[in-house]
Amino acid sequence: MATTPELARLHRAPEPAVLSPLLDAAALSPETLARVRTRARALIAHLRAAEASGWVNAFLREYQLGTQEGIALLGLAEAFLRVPDPHTADLLIRDKIGSADWRAHAGASNSALVNSATWGLVLTRALVAEPEKPGILKQLVSRAGEPFVRAGVGAAMRRMGEVFVMGRTIPEALAFMRGEPGFTASFDMLGEGACTRPDADRYMASYTDAVRRVGEGGAKTGHSVSVKLSALHPRYETAQADACVPELSARLIELARGAAAAGIGLTVDAEESERLEMSLDIIAAAARDPATRGWDGLGMAVQAYSKRARAAIAWADALGAETGRRISVRLVKGAYWDSEIKRTQVEGLANYPLFTRKAATDVSYLACARDMLAARNLFPAFASHNAMTVATILEWAGDNRDFEFQRLHGMGAGLYEALVREQGYRCRIYAPVGGHRDLLAYLVRRLLENGANSSFVHQLADASLSEDDLLADPVALVRAVGGTRHPSIPLPADLFAPERANSAGLDLSDARVLAETAAALAPSALRAPPPGGEEKTTPPPLGEVARSAGGGVAAVATAAANARPWDAPVQTRAAAIARWGDMLESHRLELMSLVVHEARKTIPDALGEVREAVDFCRYYAARALIDFEPQRLPGPTGETNELRLAPRGLVACISPWNFPLAIFTGQIAAALAAGNAVLAKPAPQTPRIAARAVELAYEAGVPRAALHLLPGGPDVGHAVVGHPKVMLVAFTGSTATARAIARTLLEDDTRPLVPVIAETGGLNAMLVDSTALPEQVVHDVITSAFRSAGQRCSALRLLLLQEDIAERTLEMLKGAMDTLVPGDPADPATDVGPVIDAAAYDRLMAYRGSVRARWVHTLAVPPAPAHLVPPTVIRLDRAEDLRQEWFGPLLHVATFRAGDLEACVARVNASGYGLTMGLHSRVAATADAVSATAHAGNLYINRSMIGAVVGSQPFGGEGLSGTGPKAGGPRYLPRFAVERTVSIDTTSAGGNASLLSIDAGGI
Ligand SMILES: Cc1cc2nc3c(=O)[nH]c(=O)nc-3n(C[C@H](O)[C@H](O)[C@H](O)COP(=O)(O)OP(=O)(O)OC[C@H]3O[C@@H](n4cnc5c(N)ncnc54)[C@H](O)[C@@H]3O)c2cc1C
Repeated sequence: MATTPELARLHRAPEPAVLSPLLDAAALSPETLARVRTRARALIAHLRAAEASGWVNAFLREYQLGTQEGIALLGLAEAFLRVPDPHTADLLIRDKIGSADWRAHAGASNSALVNSATWGLVLTRALVAEPEKPGILKQLVSRAGEPFVRAGVGAAMRRMGEVFVMGRTIPEALAFMRGEPGFTASFDMLGEGACTRPDADRYMASYTDAVRRVGEGGAKTGHSVSVKLSALHPRYETAQADACVPELSARLIELARGAAAAGIGLTVDAEESERLEMSLDIIAAAARDPATRGWDGLGMAVQAYSKRARAAIAWADALGAETGRRISVRLVKGAYWDSEIKRTQVEGLANYPLFTRKAATDVSYLACARDMLAARNLFPAFASHNAMTVATILEWAGDNRDFEFQRLHGMGAGLYEALVREQGYRCRIYAPVGGHRDLLAYLVRRLLENGANSSFVHQLADASLSEDDLLADPVALVRAVGGTRHPSIPLPADLFAPERANSAGLDLSDARVLAETAAALAPSALRAPPPGGEEKTTPPPLGEVARSAGGGVAAVATAAANARPWDAPVQTRAAAIARWGDMLESHRLELMSLVVHEARKTIPDALGEVREAVDFCRYYAARALIDFEPQRLPGPTGETNELRLAPRGLVACISPWNFPLAIFTGQIAAALAAGNAVLAKPAPQTPRIAARAVELAYEAGVPRAALHLLPGGPDVGHAVVGHPKVMLVAFTGSTATARAIARTLLEDDTRPLVPVIAETGGLNAMLVDSTALPEQVVHDVITSAFRSAGQRCSALRLLLLQEDIAERTLEMLKGAMDTLVPGDPADPATDVGPVIDAAAYDRLMAYRGSVRARWVHTLAVPPAPAHLVPPTVIRLDRAEDLRQEWFGPLLHVATFRAGDLEACVARVNASGYGLTMGLHSRVAATADAVSATAHAGNLYINRSMIGAVVGSQPFGGEGLSGTGPKAGGPRYLPRFAVERTVSIDTTSAGGNASLLSIDAGGI
C-alpha cells in the first residue's frame, strides 16, 4: 500500500490536532485579508450577474433543500427518469408533487421562468393530488391530465440533468466547448460504482472511446479526460485489494497510454475515503509506467475535507519527483461528506476521516493550495466555486500563472470568465458526458451541493446572509472554536450518550487494520478435506468454564439446585453487566477468532457479532436502571401506590449457533440485569464461544451462583426447559423447537404457567418497485441474502420484483453474484463462508438440487473448505410457493404487476411468518402503506434487511416468527421480571396528615 506514516497518522486523528498546522499555513495577515476580500467582492459581483440568468440556480434557490418542496423535487429528480411504467411514474409524481405546498412559492422568485414553473407545480398538484372526496369531474381531469403531467415532469427532469451534463456523447460535448473560448474541459463519462464486470467493461470501453475522441483534437485543445476508478471494477474494496488493485492499475495504465499518445491529460477523480490508499497505489503504478515517461498529463484529485489531504499532496509531489513527471493535482473540497459521516457512525469507528465544519475544510483547502503552489513536481489545479477561496489563491499566486482553476459544468458560471478572458488565467470545466441512465447519482450530488446551506453557491443566493458573512475568514472561524469537531456531529462512540457507550468498530476498510485483524485470527481452523474425506476442524480448546460445567442432562439438576437469583441492588447488577460488555470489547480479537473458527463466520460478521454482544450488555445495564426504578402511580389522597419489578427466579436461556455470542450474551445479560439466575444452554455447535463469554461474565462480577453454563444438545435443552424451577424461557431458534418448548412447559400440571420469549424463523420478503435504484437494490439483496451464508434469521428469502424492472434487476444481480468470493471465512477476501455443518449442507444441497430447473443463477464454489453452499437464485411462479425457510444462501424470486405491491404484502402476510420485510421504493405513500399493513417485526425501507442495531432497531418477529418482546428494545427487560404493585393506606396510622397540611393554593 502507498501509505506513508503521515497518511496513517492523520486518517482518524482528532480535528484540532490535524487543523493546528493547517491554520498556520492558511492564515492571512490583516492587510492580505483585506486585499483578498476586495478581490472576492468583485468575483461575487460577476457570479451574481451570471447566476441571474441561470434558471436552475434560481429554481434551486426558491426550492431549498431545507423545505418540504425542495426535498420533494430532489426525490423526483433522483428517481423519475428511471421509472419505466406509467402507473408507478404517476404514483411518484403524485407522491412528490401532490404532497407539497407549491402555492406558498407562487410569484416568490425573481425569475419569471421559476415563477411560471411554480404555477405549473401548483396546477400539477391540483391535478394529481389525491382529493379527499373525489368528484367525478376532478377524476376525469386527473385521468386525462396524467400523460401530460408525466411528459412535462419528464421534460423538466431532463432539462435539469442537461444543466449539469455537457452532452450525451463526446462529440456533442466537444461541440459545446467550441462555444466556450478560452476554457478547456475535462470530460468525464457518467457512471460510477460498477456493480458487475459487464458494467465495468462497458465503462472502460466508454472511457477508452473518450480518450480516443478527445485525443483526436490533439494536445493543442488542452482538453483532458477524468476517470472514476469505481466505474472500472465491481469490487474496488480494501478486502479485495489483492485482486482489484492490479486490475485497476492495468486499466489505468491502458487509458494513460492512450492519453499520453494523444498528448492529452487524464485525471483520476477522488472518491470515498476508504479508497484513497488503493487509488494512490493505482496512480503510482500508472506514474511508474516506463511507456509514458515524459508525459506530464497524469493527474489526481485530492479532497480538502479529508484529514489526509495535505499528506496526499506531499505524496503526489514525491511521486512526481520519483518518476520524473509533473503530476497534475486537482484540489477539490469533496463531494461525499454526508455519506462519509454516516458510514463512520454506522461502523462505530474511532473518529471521522474528514473535517466536520465547513470552515475547517476551507482552511485545509487553503493550506493545501499553498503547498501545491510551492511544490516542484506538481501542476496545481484549483477546483472551487467559492469566491473567497479563489481570491485567496489569486493573492498567493501573485504573478504566477503556472496553474489552472477548474469549475463544474452548470456551476460557478461567471466566476472565471473575466479571469480567463481578461487576465489570462486558465480554467478547465469538468464536463460530465452521458445519457440519462447514468446521470442520476451525479445529478443528486450536484443538487445537494447547490441546495446545501453550507455551500457557497447556495449562500450567495441567500438574502439573509450579508456579504461579510460570505467573506468570512475561515481561519478566524476555525480558531474561534479551537478547531473542534462540530457539536452536532458526535463521535461514533458517543452516539447513544449519555445512556451508554456505543460498541467500538474496527476499520476493516483500512488495509493495515484488516491485515492485522486477519493475522490475529489466523491460522484458519478450517482445513481442506483430505481427498474423499470429511473436513477436520481444529477448534480451540474448550474453556475452563465449559469443562467444569461437565455436560449432559445430569448437570441440569445440579445447576438448578445451586442456582441463586442475583440478589444485589440493580445498580450493582447493572455495573457488572456493563463491565461484562467492556470485557467482551477488550477481548474482541479473541472472541472474533472463536466466532470465525467455531461458527465459521467471516471476519466482518464476527466483528458485528462482538459489537452486538457488547451493545446488548451496555443497553440492558442502562435499561435495568430505568425499568427497575419503582413507579409511583396516581390514586386518591391518603394512599401511595407503587409498581415495582422483581426477578422471576430461574430463567432458561437457549440460544442458536448463528449468533453464538450476540444472542447468547443478550439473553443472559437481560435475565441477569433483571436479577434472575440463569441456566444458559448454547447451541451444541458453538460451546467454546459460550464458555469464553461466561468466563468473562464471571470476571466482570457476575456471581457464579447466578449463571450456569449447560452445553449440550436437544436432550439438555429439554431437561432445562422441563426443570420445575424454571420460570421463564428465552429461546431463539426454529419455530418447531419453540413449539416443543411451549408443550414441555405445559406438561407438568403442578407448574405455574411459564412464559416463553421466542424468536424464530421467517420467510422474509423484499418488495421492489420500479422507482427503486437497481444498483442499491442489488447491493442490498446480496447483503441480505448471501452474507453470513444466508444464515441469519433476518436474511432475505424471497425477492419480489415489479415485472417492469425484474429482468434488468436480475441481470445486474447475476453479475453482482459473479463477483462474490466464496471461501474460507478466515480469509479477509471471503464474502460467503460455509454453512454451519454437514447436516445443514446436505439439507440445503438436496433442496437446491430438487429445484434445479428453476435456477436463475448460481455460483461455482471451491472444493475447500467443506460445506460451501453455492449462492443460488431460484425462480418461483408465485410468492406463495415458498413454504419453508431454507437457512442458507438460497434466494427465491417472483414478480408482481405494477399496482399490485400492496396486494403482494397481504400475500406475504398470509404465510403466517412475520420476522423481517424489505421494501425498495421512492414513493413515500407506498412506504406508508407497507408499514401500515406488513405483518413483520422489522421492516427495512431502502436498505438491507440484516444487522439490526441494539437500541435503534429492536429485533424480533410476530406470528410464526416469535412472541416478542423485541431483543434490544425498551420492553425486553420487563418480561424477565414479575410486576408487583404495593399500595399503602397512609391514613391507617390515624389521619391523613398530608391532606391536612396542604398549602393554601396561592390564596
Ligand atoms: C472541476 C471539479 C472536479 C471535481 N472533482 C471531484 C472529485 O474528484 N471528487 C470529489 O469528491 N469531488 C469533486 N468535485 C466536487 C467538489 O468536491 C465540490 O464541487 C466542492 O466541494 C465544492 O466546493 P466549493 O469550493 O465550490 O464550495 P464551498 O461551498 O466553499 O464548499 C462546499 C464543500 O465544503 C465541504 N463541506 C460542507 N459542509 C461541511 C462540513 N460541515 N464539514 C466539513 N466540510 C464541509 C464539502 O466538501 C462541500 O462540498 C469536483 C469539483 C470540481 C469543480
